[in-house]
Amino acid sequence: MERTLIICKPDAVQRRLVGRILSRFEDKGLNMIGLKMITITPELAKKHYAEHAEKKWYPGLEGFITSSPVVVGLIEGVDAIALVRKMLGATNGRNAEPGTIRGDFSSSQQMNLVHASASAEDAAREIDIFFGESEIQAYEPAIMPSLYASDEL
Ligand code: ADP
Ligand code: MG
Repeated sequence: MERTLIICKPDAVQRRLVGRILSRFEDKGLNMIGLKMITITPELAKKHYAEHAEKKWYPGLEGFITSSPVVVGLIEGVDAIALVRKMLGATNGRNAEPGTIRGDFSSSQQMNLVHASASAEDAAREIDIFFGESEIQAYEPAIMPSLYASDEL
């Protein structure tokens, strides 16, 4: 089991796509164990996007990600980190494959609707930034035997 962090970015909230985006993860059988709406501050943006802070396009990204509320989620599942990234598609919505979230709903490099952790190391760091222990609702889904064979767990 892996845990990964997702952020439905301001464009997803503004475009009323949050429900449909979260439905994709639910439909896939992933387990949502944390969910909240927040507004990202410039300080939080710099921490979360530390790897990009020196890029020339970072100011634009910071302006975008702090522009209105976001919905942050914590998702659990077998191979969840790579699986959720695959469901997002390529960074640029114009390059993302149809059938992916970005491929179906985004036509932009920046306004690409959803963030998801890229590696186990990133997931651990990002979950720690956005979720306190008391905000995580870990539970065993009752439908677990219908989601995975026992040797997949
Ligand atoms: P990903 O979100 O797919 O991991 P990156 O880590 O490369 O993509 O970039 C982080 C976010 O910064 C992207 O999701 C996108 O919103 C934004 N971004 C990426 N590249 C650019 C760019 N050239 N100009 C403006 N914003 C960008
Ligand atoms: Mg990235």
